[in-house]
Amino acid sequence: MIPQRKPSGRLILSWRSDWTSKRQLPSRKINMADGVNALPFFYGNITREEAEDYLRQTGLSNGLYLLRQSRNYLGGFALSVSNAGRIYHYTIERNPNETYAIAGGKSHRSPMDVIDYHSQEMDGLICLLKKPCNRPKNMQPKVGPFEDLKEKLIREYVKQTWNLQGAALEQAIISQRPQLEKLIATTAHERMPWFHGGITREDSESRLQCGPRMSGKFLIRQRDENGSYALCLLHEGQVMHYRIDRDRQNKLSIPDGKKFDTLWQLVEHYSYKSDGLLRVLTEPSPRPDGETVRIGRPLPPLGSPGISNAIQTAADGIMSMFKSHSILKRKKDPDNLNPYETRMAGNQAISKEAMPMDTEVYESPYADPDELRSSTVDRSQLFLEDGELGSGNFGTVMKGVYKMRKTEKPVAVKILKNDDNNPAIREEMLREANVMQQLDNPYIVRMIGICEAENLMLVMELADLGPLNKFLQKNKQTNIKNITELVHQVSMGMKYLEEHNFVHRDLAARNVLLVTQHYAKISDFGLSKAVGEEQNYYKAKGHGKWPVKWYAPECINYFKFSSKSDVWSFGVLMWEAFSHGQKPYKGMKGNDVMQMIESGKRMDPPLNCPPEMSDLMKACWTYKVDERPAFRVVEPRLREYYYDIAAQ
Ligand code: AMP
Repeated sequence: MIPQRKPSGRLILSWRSDWTSKRQLPSRKINMADGVNALPFFYGNITREEAEDYLRQTGLSNGLYLLRQSRNYLGGFALSVSNAGRIYHYTIERNPNETYAIAGGKSHRSPMDVIDYHSQEMDGLICLLKKPCNRPKNMQPKVGPFEDLKEKLIREYVKQTWNLQGAALEQAIISQRPQLEKLIATTAHERMPWFHGGITREDSESRLQCGPRMSGKFLIRQRDENGSYALCLLHEGQVMHYRIDRDRQNKLSIPDGKKFDTLWQLVEHYSYKSDGLLRVLTEPSPRPDGETVRIGRPLPPLGSPGISNAIQTAADGIMSMFKSHSILKRKKDPDNLNPYETRMAGNQAISKEAMPMDTEVYESPYADPDELRSSTVDRSQLFLEDGELGSGNFGTVMKGVYKMRKTEKPVAVKILKNDDNNPAIREEMLREANVMQQLDNPYIVRMIGICEAENLMLVMELADLGPLNKFLQKNKQTNIKNITELVHQVSMGMKYLEEHNFVHRDLAARNVLLVTQHYAKISDFGLSKAVGEEQNYYKAKGHGKWPVKWYAPECINYFKFSSKSDVWSFGVLMWEAFSHGQKPYKGMKGNDVMQMIESGKRMDPPLNCPPEMSDLMKACWTYKVDERPAFRVVEPRLREYYYDIAAQ
């Protein structure tokens, strides 16, 4: 018997998990958001009924299908198919391991792969997918009401919470988008006009009975700290209470009802369809003016908006919440937490991961105009601490504190050893300072200044967790998502260098320093050079003490260094990161490595390295410079993969 999956994702008969595909379809690489949006049969955030209308208008032939965004699972999709005059809907869920599957079915790398597969194999579907039902001409995929506001909300959130603007704001959004989206999605309900916090059942009844008593008026209250809620709905003068429980997968539903990732999706659904309730939700019951929800934040005064205004009102609410939490130096003041942290305090179920913006080295030390940029550091304001951070042939690196006008910063101080016989090292350190002084990016260790005192000292931002390779060697459990996040940040820093015509020339995992487990900065600009825009490479005069295993063939053969040769090094850095800090080309001599590269061979991917990442490493090791991708290409590819795996 053919195992048949019940539309909407539930199984009717048992599922054959040992199913093997007769035909291996090539998996397509896409950016999920852009890729799906570009599909002519993707309709975006339309309802099930709208999907049915489109299929009907297109003739309802057997195997006619369209794809739409799931309205209940964050990041999920729904497939609507017609067969024998009827329409079937299947949820394509996004699994925590970055794959997509119709519940209980075979996993695929993208929703398009799910469709490709089911155009060849029924495998539980009602029929084969035969013909795409394309969107009418000039119709774009529909953007959901929340999606529409999401951008605005994220931007406002970052601006207000971390007091950022300009490039720092943009970079924060790019590097932390998955975390920010989740934050907005899971906390947005707290600002919705219908969310009344932890009020009692009796209170909810009196609130619904107060003022106009039209059927459909509703509110949601929090029942306990375990994430259970109640939907309270006025129907013909009576208040009905529906429990909203959270299952083990953290999905929310009323008993036997459809499951949702967020409360706002649940409200959106029941406000267009009763789906088991006595009626649809119409009017949110407003909170009493100025009331504070139990989570403990002051609410903006709210009117009595209808459903259509509810989301906008929520957005305004969220924004004023951000404003009320606008920080100067939030981390120093435990009472001035952002909503995320407040949530953390009250809900242990969600673990907190510090974002780069939470640290003191995200923003430029000179972002504040009152802290005038000067490349010299006053020795009397610099306080060195005991204990070395590291050392090199120049001397040592010590930890310290630099007192600026308004703030004080933890710093790392590179101290040149007193070696009058070797002026070259002094020159080298001054050259490094000169390069660093011209760079200002959150993913690059910034120079605070030079201090000429008992020794020559280079004062830099502190990246306390040390080199990436060592960190990963010690922390073998660091997962792929975390590694991708860090490597992506390095690519952001490198893209900045490329844009500003600097070549690093010593990019390696040992020269990426960690501020936190989720925040990497590129360091060691001892070999770096500024290059011209026209002649965008640096020609070395001769072979030096070079990190050959990280160098592209043109560096070794022609002494030519460009951003593209940094890309080659970046590929090696990726290899180091995904192998948890192993040494590349283990046991091989520089010459053997060069021969291996010339013969067209490359390192094998690290164990358990995702194919997307080993493909990218290989692209970085393209022999011909012109065919090798630039960082402006590498960074978005990493970003895309990072967003894909981090959205869960
Ligand atoms: P370098 O010669 O620049 O590679 O520095 C030698 C070592 O000093 C590095 O491997 C780090 O362990 C440490 N170090 C250098 N710069 C910093 C910094 N900004 N923050 C923390 N540690 C640093």
